[in-house]
Amino acid sequence: MSQVRVRFAPSPTGTFHIGSARTALFNWLYARHTGGTFVLRVEDTDHERNTDEALEVLLSGMRWLGLDWDEGPEVGGDFGPYFQSQRGELYKEYIQKLFVAGRAYEKDGAVFFKLEGERYTEYDEYHKAEIEKVRTEPQEIDDAIRGKVVRAEERDFVIVRSNGEPVFHLVNVVDDITMGITHVIRGEDHLSNTTKHCELFKAFGAPLPHFAHIPMILNSSGPGKMSKRGDGVHVEDYEKRHFLPHGLVNFLALLGWNAKDDQELFSLDELVEKFDLSGIQKGNARFDEKKLAHINTEQIRRLPMDSFREMAIPVLQEAGVATEDGSYIDAVLKLCQEKTRSMAELPDFVAYFFDDAFIFDPKAGERLFKKGEPLERLKEVQAALAAVETWDVDSLNKAFTDLAASQGQEKPFAWFPVTRYSVSGTSGGPDLIPMLEVMGRDLVLSRMEAFPARYQA
Ligand code: GLU
Repeated sequence: MSQVRVRFAPSPTGTFHIGSARTALFNWLYARHTGGTFVLRVEDTDHERNTDEALEVLLSGMRWLGLDWDEGPEVGGDFGPYFQSQRGELYKEYIQKLFVAGRAYEKDGAVFFKLEGERYTEYDEYHKAEIEKVRTEPQEIDDAIRGKVVRAEERDFVIVRSNGEPVFHLVNVVDDITMGITHVIRGEDHLSNTTKHCELFKAFGAPLPHFAHIPMILNSSGPGKMSKRGDGVHVEDYEKRHFLPHGLVNFLALLGWNAKDDQELFSLDELVEKFDLSGIQKGNARFDEKKLAHINTEQIRRLPMDSFREMAIPVLQEAGVATEDGSYIDAVLKLCQEKTRSMAELPDFVAYFFDDAFIFDPKAGERLFKKGEPLERLKEVQAALAAVETWDVDSLNKAFTDLAASQGQEKPFAWFPVTRYSVSGTSGGPDLIPMLEVMGRDLVLSRMEAFPARYQA
């Protein structure tokens, strides 16, 4: 194990935002890439929002994405407890340290962190009052992504509210110190907090961690930051829509990171191998739903057959499509893995393999009947296929080629559309001949026989 210790420090709110998931992923990838430790720390100081259910949404989202944590809830670790709500004594101890060092004072019931430097007062437009400011030494942050960021705090800030609750800045820094965090990888929205955090690290005599502030995520279209609510902004939405977890992981990895080339599809091992902070861009990342759909489709195609099957069966069952016949389902899935665009689409995509009452796509039917004599051709195919002895791809191919040859044609393509349409009701789908093989003689011939009457009805 390397010395790297990173953490994902969410505040459970009841949903698992895509942006948070990306932060979790970047930390996880960095830990796995460096052989370091990935800590999950729950920043649950907001008691009203931080319910057990809210925590469960987060943990189950992490599990679904495959982001396992080395220390944290459920797994424990040497630096626990991993819930801020259980670390109150520690925070008191650290606040006491600041008092002892003369770096904290009480005012109006709240506790303030005391900056070091020359004090002066200045009229402040915003507060419409004379306020006290401090000329401090600027803090220099050597951010792995933003580069050198130099900023100075100029006012003492609250570290314990008048109701006794320690504030985010304090608990976040105390935890990073006591948990031995070496790299703070988080959203750029926290960059402005980092000056305060550096002040605190130094006041506690602790070394600064490395900082890496990752770019914001913009909406699919338009200039705005990705919204907080709505369709498709939470990890749970993608789980419900049967996205491949690795499809989402692959997509999230590319929200602000690249492997310094234009590779888009990565296995998890490749991501772990190639991920580094130096590949994270400064500019904002755009949430492109089309790209997500594309990556998801491609990752479905790359799944080993067994994994595809494992995911597909419950989806088909839930949609009421799957049948009892295990080997038939397997053959259908094998045929369709290459062709389906998503798991959500799969039940509709394969429905006609299982149910004779499939619907004929009217547009495809119209196109078919516009040219030639489809019913004539269908009769010819029916006769040719009825004569096939061994129902397999080779014999079926031969039956079609012979039929074409008997009418002076080199290729049998003219007979394909009506064949497909009569047995499936669509003009798309898997390759025709293997599809006929999988469907089997009885199903194919009976559907062809029933077609003229059914289609006209
Ligand atoms: N709880 C903070 C958040 O969810 C953590 C910030 C950090 O990573 O330091 O934004």
